[in-house]
Amino acid sequence: MNPIGMDNSVFPARRPGDGEAPPVDGVADGAGGRGNLIGLSREELGAEVAALGEKPFRVKQLWHWIYHRGATDFRAMTTLAKPLRERLADLYVLERPEIVRHQVGEDGTRKWLLRAGEGHLIETVHIPEEDRGALCISSQVGCTLTCAFCHTGTQRLVRNLEPGEIVGQFMLARDRLGEWPTPTGGARLLSNIVMMGMGEPLYNFENVKTALGIVMDEEGVALSRRRITLSTSGVVPMMERCGAELNVDLAVSLHAVTDELRSILVPLNRKYPIERLLAACRAYPGASNARRITFEYVMLRGVNDSDADARALVRLLGGVPAKVNLIPFNPWPGAPYECSSNARIASFARIVNDGGLSAPVRRPRGRDILAACGQLRSDTVGKRRSGLPRDRAGAAA
Ligand code: SAH
Ligand code: SF4
Repeated sequence: MNPIGMDNSVFPARRPGDGEAPPVDGVADGAGGRGNLIGLSREELGAEVAALGEKPFRVKQLWHWIYHRGATDFRAMTTLAKPLRERLADLYVLERPEIVRHQVGEDGTRKWLLRAGEGHLIETVHIPEEDRGALCISSQVGCTLTCAFCHTGTQRLVRNLEPGEIVGQFMLARDRLGEWPTPTGGARLLSNIVMMGMGEPLYNFENVKTALGIVMDEEGVALSRRRITLSTSGVVPMMERCGAELNVDLAVSLHAVTDELRSILVPLNRKYPIERLLAACRAYPGASNARRITFEYVMLRGVNDSDADARALVRLLGGVPAKVNLIPFNPWPGAPYECSSNARIASFARIVNDGGLSAPVRRPRGRDILAACGQLRSDTVGKRRSGLPRDRAGAAA
């Protein structure tokens, strides 16, 4: 069980003769009762192949078709013998999440609203740049945490996403951007992943780990760990494992320089206050001056944006391999905060820069389609199946 009480075990795809469908929402059970292979780790795919009585080298071939070529039809897998292709097609699918709505913002940002099992919706956002593009991936339906400035934190129903639903967001974006097979060099529409969508990724660590392990696998999507950033609101006990087992870049949602204010903005701070959080950052495996931890700081008018706050931030981050990312607050309907003025943000940034920390201001993207940081909130439709109650006081870890 993970910290929010959900069973994280991966349900293997169904095998011939299996009885009931896996007792989860999600994609493990694909069209027509066939099992979905998307989201199985290499070892799990190996177990499926072995159960079919096939030789281990078939795993490599299948993996290449699925994650390098982006195949969605077993019949197109010409390196496999025809009877095997037929058998696979009878038993399995390579299913992506179903798209409920697709929006494109004025700046080219795309937002997909996706169905994650019965009654649950999630959002994925693609943020294009000139020669690259980041995909902002969700790790949970909603979020059990209740950060005061975040729209996702106001969503009532929450559950962890399965590995196939997490990788599925990537597969679907690649499909829609027409970027298969995986490009081997040059500009890419989809070059980076940021785990900054809905949810707290370190509260769904096992599934996030399986999913990111799949996209980092060199024989498939082959995304380097340096192109993946995981953002956490500060789940201290999981940070070391994140560094040791995934070794992706880390971003930490700091947002305040005192425990008093941070406990209001990020209620999880009551459990893991700033000092403990920074100790975990100093110990983060892989962090160095060449590979700094990003501290996210949302600019809230009159709340955390004074020059004194900026100076305190510089002092606080002394001795941590840090850079700062200032995020203009992105408003949402009914939000209790406003964004700081441009002049205020500029003054804050100057002080942090003068203090020796790089402090770029994040350009809001996709604001017109409510796709910017903290604006994601997909109201759940239909009947509830495995939602979790929201934890007003911050989830237990
Ligand atoms: N749960 C993780 C990752 C998802 S949120 C986390 O909290 O870090 C990604 C980033 O957007 C976090 O830094 C979060 O604090 C920030 N954010 C949330 N709501 C926002 C808003 N309305 N405007 C700007 N940034 C916001
Ligand atoms: Fe959850 Fe992150 Fe939003 Fe906080 S900021 S409520 S941790 S998604």
